Order: sequence, then C-alpha cells, then structure tokens
Amino acid sequence: MARIINAVDAVGQWFSVSIIGGIFRDLQPQAGLIAASGPCRPLMSAADLSALAAEALVDAAGLTLVPGAVDVHVHSRDPGLTAKEDWHTLAQGAWRGGVVAVCDMPNTLPPTMTREAVLFKAERAAASGLEFKLLVGVGAGNVNHVGELLAASDLPVCALKVFYGRTTGELMYDDLETLARSIPETCNKPLVFHSEDQCTVDCNQTRLASRLKDKDNSAFEVHSDIRSSAAAHQSTRVILEWARTTYKRPIHIAHVSTPLEIELVAEAKARGVLVTAEVAPHHLLFSTDDYARLGPLVKKNPPLRSPAELEQLHKLVGQGLVDIFATDHAPHLLAEKYASVGSSPSGVPGVELFYPLLWTVAKRTGLPFATALAMGASRPAELFGFAQKGRIANGFDADFAVLVPSEHVITQQDTVAKCGWTPYAGLHRTVDIVATWNRGRQVYSGPDSSLGQSFEH
Ligand SMILES: [Zn+2]
Repeated sequence: MARIINAVDAVGQWFSVSIIGGIFRDLQPQAGLIAASGPCRPLMSAADLSALAAEALVDAAGLTLVPGAVDVHVHSRDPGLTAKEDWHTLAQGAWRGGVVAVCDMPNTLPPTMTREAVLFKAERAAASGLEFKLLVGVGAGNVNHVGELLAASDLPVCALKVFYGRTTGELMYDDLETLARSIPETCNKPLVFHSEDQCTVDCNQTRLASRLKDKDNSAFEVHSDIRSSAAAHQSTRVILEWARTTYKRPIHIAHVSTPLEIELVAEAKARGVLVTAEVAPHHLLFSTDDYARLGPLVKKNPPLRSPAELEQLHKLVGQGLVDIFATDHAPHLLAEKYASVGSSPSGVPGVELFYPLLWTVAKRTGLPFATALAMGASRPAELFGFAQKGRIANGFDADFAVLVPSEHVITQQDTVAKCGWTPYAGLHRTVDIVATWNRGRQVYSGPDSSLGQSFEH
C-alpha cells in the first residue's frame, strides 16, 4: 500500500488517497498542503505504487491529479492495417494522453464481426498492456449473430458499431427493423451509430463529382459539401425516432458534428429515449476555414463544419449537453492522405493529446473542468462497461494522470501514432501531462516541466 498526500484535483481541492493492490482506498479531503509525518518519497519517482510497502508515504507536492481517461472511440488499425498504427503504438499514445482504457472500432482487417475476429484482435490488444474493449461491426452477413457477440460474457465486447452511412465498405447497415430484432431484449450495451444519410451523401457526390480529382488544400472544402450537415441531420433524426418508437434500449451517436444534432439528442432524451452523444476534438477545434491551411490533414467523416456551426457547437457543448468526449483517433499515413479529394482517406490521429485537447475544448467552450472530466472519464467508463474506471474514488482502479499548466504549442514531435503526424500542431496547449498511472503502476513519464504549479480555476 502507498498513501499519496498533497494531491490536488481538477477543481483545486486538496486530497490524500491510498492505493492498495492497484485500487484507490480511503480518499480524504485535505485542508491544504500538509507536512509528512516521517519518511516520504516524491510521487514522480515512484514507479509502482501498488507494490510499495505498507507504510510508504508518497508526496504529490501540490500536483494536479485527474482520473485516467477512457477514450471510447479509437481505431487501432490492428490487425491488418499496421503500417498506420498498431496496439503497441496505440498504448504508448494513449498513456501519453492520460488515457488508460480505449474502445476500438471494428474497421480493421479482418473486420471485428465474428467471434474469431474478436478473439484474434483481443489477443493482440492484450499484449500491448493497454486496457481495452472492442466494438463489433454489423453488416448483412452477420446481423443474425451480433446479438450473441454482444451477450457473450467471455468476449471483451462493449458495444455494436453501426455504420449507418457507408464509410467502410462491408461494415455498413441500414435495416434498422432487422437490427432491432437481432439484439436481445436484455442487452444493455449501446448501439453506437456513425450517423450520415447515405442518399444525401450520394446525391451530393454525383453533383460535385468533377471536383473530386482536385488536390490543393482548399479543394477539400467540397468534402464538407458532400457529407453535408443535412446528411447528418437526416440520419440522426431517423435513428432517434427508431430508438424512441422501436428499439427502446441504449444508443449512442458517435462524433456529433452539428449543433442541430445536439439539440435533437437533447429533445430525444427529454422524451425518454436512452441516447447519449459524443463529440470529437477536430469538430470543436477546426472549421471549414481550416481546409486552406490543412487540406487533407483534416479530412474526416463526418467532416468539418462552417465557422457559424462551430460557434454554435461551442455554445451547446459549453452547456454540458454532450455526454462524451472521444478523440476518434484514426491514423493514416501522410503518403495516403496527400491524394486527391476523392481518394484521400478520412481520419486523423488524436489519442496522444487527449487531455490537452479536452482542456483546450473546455477553455474554448466554457465547459467547467468537472464536466469535462465527466465527459472524458466517468461517463465513458459507465456507458462502455469499465465499472471501476473514470474516477478518483474509493474502490476504483488507481488510474490517474498528472497535469501541469503549459505554455507550449503542440508540435509534430508530440505524435506517438505510427503515422507520425498530427493536425493539431501549432495549437496552444493549456496543460502538459507529466505522468500517467494505471492501477497504481506508472505507464507514462513525460518531460519534467514546471512541476508544482497549480491551475487557475
Ligand atoms: Zn471513427
């Protein structure tokens, strides 16, 4: 057991807490900095708190400790696409970002659509040391079996991913009636929707086809015209209505990109629909104005929205109307990205910057730190089945990240993802992560910068 003293939480409250067998115990508020009674070691030099001797006292010296984050939207690319990313580099990136657990999307090779594919991916993931759960994908070929996969207690499956709009070939499904019948009534794991209306997208694509061969940065703006806000609105409306009238179990809308969708989700909640919504950092930190500077590097599905929509998104996120913040970490190689508008793959990395991006989002939207922490740690843990994660509280896994204020700018050197680049370079960061701990064991140790400073709250 180790007892940490002189820790500060994200809202400035001092506390002490014990770690026994990798679990938080005996959390106590402190009135302020206290002197250690007896020998005491600094937090930053202890590599394994869960293994320290019973009386060990560890001094956090006023450092800010936040819960280890849970990123419920990452693309490991492993198996099958490991030139872009793999479980080992994903783990390094996650820990650097203050993330201790991830939920991985099914569009790998093979796609995670069968028991065999789940077990194969799980073995690779487990070898990385990163805690994880997997989403299973649905298509016409496996819709009759997804219920079994969700219900299987021996599989690390947290949710079903429904690409309601076509983004990844065979992993596409839009027969909601059949889907409702294929999920057991007792299943409470969420159905996670990628929500873009295919008809609208196809129509726009036909109309704008002549512009898909362009390669210059500004040409990428057409991607936002093709995968229009109207496509997202239409799809989310249909899904919410189906959830209200037919499905009546938990659903989750991934990477909501438009203000109207946040309002639609809020209305649905008020009518009793079991729906949660997620936002991704790129949709909150970039707009269509950024295509001129970044072009293919910010090509995403759903795409970036107009500056006016971004402003409105900030307002709604700042009001706490969104449940979850997740990075949608989706690495591609630069050589793949720098192609024409039509052939450049959609996706950007982000997990290695989880807390810096979340804190920047909080600052820009006016979101209180406590709400930001709920969006990045406790809510995703609750909704995706990590019962003991997401809080610094008695009985929870001793997962935490140590944050210090930062004057730094994000650089390409902050990238851990195997793809080797980040679209966020140049963005001012308000926090650096100096260490991440998972179940009382240090999994990341960063540059030792301005330790001991406290936040302005
Ligand atoms: Zn994604």
